[in-house]
Amino acid sequence: MSIHEECGVFGVFSQNTIDVASLTYYGLFALQHRGQESCGIVVNDDGLFYSHKDLGLVSEVFTKENLAKLPHGNMAVGHCRYGTTGATNRNNCQPIEVNHQKGKMAIAHNGNLSNAATLRDRLELTGAIFHTTSDTETIAYIVTRERLMAPSIEDAVSAAMNSLDGAYSLCLMSSAKMIAVRDPYGFRPLCFGQLPDGTYIVASESCAVTAIGGTLIRELEPGEIIVFSKDGIVSRREHCNKKPKKLCIFEYIYFARPDSIIENVSVHTARVRAGKILAQRFPANADVVVGVPDSGLDAALGFSRESGIPYSIGLIKNKYIARTFISPGQSNRIDKVKIKLSAVEDTVKGKSIVLIDDSIVRGTTSGQIVKLLRDAGAKEIHMRISSPPFLNPCYYGTDIDSKEHLIANKMSIPEIAKAIGADTLGYLPIEDLSKLINCDNFCSACFNGDYPTSVPTDTRKNKFEKRLSEINK
Ligand code: SF4
Repeated sequence: MSIHEECGVFGVFSQNTIDVASLTYYGLFALQHRGQESCGIVVNDDGLFYSHKDLGLVSEVFTKENLAKLPHGNMAVGHCRYGTTGATNRNNCQPIEVNHQKGKMAIAHNGNLSNAATLRDRLELTGAIFHTTSDTETIAYIVTRERLMAPSIEDAVSAAMNSLDGAYSLCLMSSAKMIAVRDPYGFRPLCFGQLPDGTYIVASESCAVTAIGGTLIRELEPGEIIVFSKDGIVSRREHCNKKPKKLCIFEYIYFARPDSIIENVSVHTARVRAGKILAQRFPANADVVVGVPDSGLDAALGFSRESGIPYSIGLIKNKYIARTFISPGQSNRIDKVKIKLSAVEDTVKGKSIVLIDDSIVRGTTSGQIVKLLRDAGAKEIHMRISSPPFLNPCYYGTDIDSKEHLIANKMSIPEIAKAIGADTLGYLPIEDLSKLINCDNFCSACFNGDYPTSVPTDTRKNKFEKRLSEINK
């Protein structure tokens, strides 16, 4: 599995001056799985911004010395990034900081706009100096422009939302306020919680709230704007219930951490349910159930519980992989799998195995994992996938590939099984997706092509897909 999530966002708001940088550091550390290319923190100390951003993992970018340079303050915004649009360079590190006529702003974003190209074309036509490929810069530009007319930063954000379409979970701050925003579809998760001393935390996932000792309050509603200021918190809902709710179902299957709770559903539980359904729909005569770490493990547990076939550890993931091995790109893919994963011979030798993974994209990685198990002596491999086949690209902040690269677009399921070397193959049926979270309001466009927004037009779509393939080179 080699799909990447675009980003993790994090924010801290306190009524007092505290070590907001360290809290943000630990929050980003808990969100590291959402983006490993770059990260950054901007601290607000009495209206003055101090920042550090760079390419690398949170632990690499924020050495003890770098962290110590950030002052205490009452607000901070943090970000970790995996680039789906915009090149991988220091200029694309977030949070983005903007100085404008009415003050300053730092903004962190998760998601992709589906109308970014249209907005950029429009801005170019109006004569704005605008040459960015980054959706976050587009959002920052529009909010800043609205701020010139709007009485407050939250009014500027609300006005900007009238132009934005697609996926955006934002955490931004001005000199005096922190603002959390979730797009009206609610594609990407965004929650807030509180520390025992009253400090508010905004995070892409609840695991980052609990990791620093906080308690989850709730997910933001799709379209909700929450303003944190010295006067307390205010929820603005003028963009709520304007669009159908479309949380990305793949957050539960793959992106999010299993200890996170999204919209009151445990990610772990959703994955266990997927495994249970696979055992019902595609039973197998096997000796052992093995999950591909990490996101196949919970579903493997569900399959085992439902089928009665023992669960065991058959693959070990090297947890100390350097960033270079998890950065995007097709080169050295073969080496990457071997370096990332190894088989536990004692579990698999001479055994018939049910192998659970979260998805198959191009088939390359799956084929290599199957080979790894065969080389370790596995007799039969019955592969089960805890999502439906990928048939379409994602325009909402993940790098699910263009159609021609998705193996399920080119082959039937028995042909895919043969291509990856599995004895049998079963995917989670699309009609069972709603059973993972007991609700029907989610995005599943990469499986069924049912895009909730208008998708980029052909020209723009080509540009978008070209950018994706450039990133994947
Ligand atoms: Fe998630 Fe797929 Fe929708 Fe993208 S297209 S938001 S990955 S469900």
